[in-house]
Amino acid sequence: MPPIKLALVGLGKIARDQHLPALAANPDYQLIALVSRSIHEQQALTVAFPEAKLFTDLDQLLASGLEIDAVSLCAPPQVRHAQAARALAAGCDVMLEKPPGSGINDVQALIHQAERHGRVLFATWHSRYAPQVEPARAWLESKRVTALKVSWREDVRHWHFNQEWVWQPGGLGVFDPGINALSIVTRLLPDGLYLTKARLDFPSNRQTPIAARLEGALAGRASGPVEIELDWLKTGEQSWDIEIGTDQGRIELTHGGSRMLIDGEQIAVAGEQEYPGLYARFSELVARRKSDVDLTPLALAADAFLLGERREVDAFEW
Ligand code: NAP
Repeated sequence: MPPIKLALVGLGKIARDQHLPALAANPDYQLIALVSRSIHEQQALTVAFPEAKLFTDLDQLLASGLEIDAVSLCAPPQVRHAQAARALAAGCDVMLEKPPGSGINDVQALIHQAERHGRVLFATWHSRYAPQVEPARAWLESKRVTALKVSWREDVRHWHFNQEWVWQPGGLGVFDPGINALSIVTRLLPDGLYLTKARLDFPSNRQTPIAARLEGALAGRASGPVEIELDWLKTGEQSWDIEIGTDQGRIELTHGGSRMLIDGEQIAVAGEQEYPGLYARFSELVARRKSDVDLTPLALAADAFLLGERREVDAFEW
């Protein structure tokens, strides 16, 4: 198959840190265009990717007549639907950063549009590509799950400094990282889980929560409690940890899914490979003309907002 002619849209932190290196290392892709509202300030990128044409917005790219096969959308979720809908209508396959939209139904609309136009739509959940997620899923397959505990605590000032969109409606607040945990647990527990209670802490001057405590239950063959703690004010040691009790021992995924422990004993540690994995999956989907959109992590986050008891906490400033 010839390389996929791809345009990368929204050159923020994740596009620079992860998408560009993953694309540069993958011969399945030809990075043919870069789209950024501040493209004229992106000198270093234009040197690193001299073949890529530069555009200030997606409409300008789509109107340019440049032949593209696919776009990868890395802007915040509030603009995801509009960008994806335009790209699909123009005949492109589309890869979406997480979360795939700012609501469930705007993504459903994209699924239908992709089907109608015969386009591939890939809603990425990068944390599912952490190295221990599939081994943990395999380990869990023959066991009955009895409890789930998630502790996802990080420092928003370190990881998202000055990203105002996270505090705006649709930005998800602490669920922006928290949905990564939800994406892993929904992959590990195919029978699923549901929420029964949620407490969301909103800074008095912000529109999205800075912390959340969720309670729920395991579904299907599994049964037992679910406790999920999300915290965006954690300084010092950060924790991205998931603990699952079963009838045959306890498994922990720590460091966002890169380390696995069974009954407290470290079994495996591996380096990061999430974005190379995402781009490998997208080229496979494009070759098979198949979409991959799983809305369950977003639905769980939405349920937390539906159920959530709101608590006002101290104002947040960067
Ligand atoms: P970011 O650093 O704020 O970058 C987002 C980029 O999107 C901006 O630099 C801007 O790029 C473009 N953009 C912002 N507002 C826009 C608007 N209103 N219309 C069009 N374009 C707009 O954010 P990020 O951390 O890269 O996150 C982007 C997405 O990736 C989010 O959905 C996030 O959840 C996800 N993600 C982030 C991380 C992470 O560690 N940061 C990890 C995994 C996934 P231009 O100025 O170039 O147009």
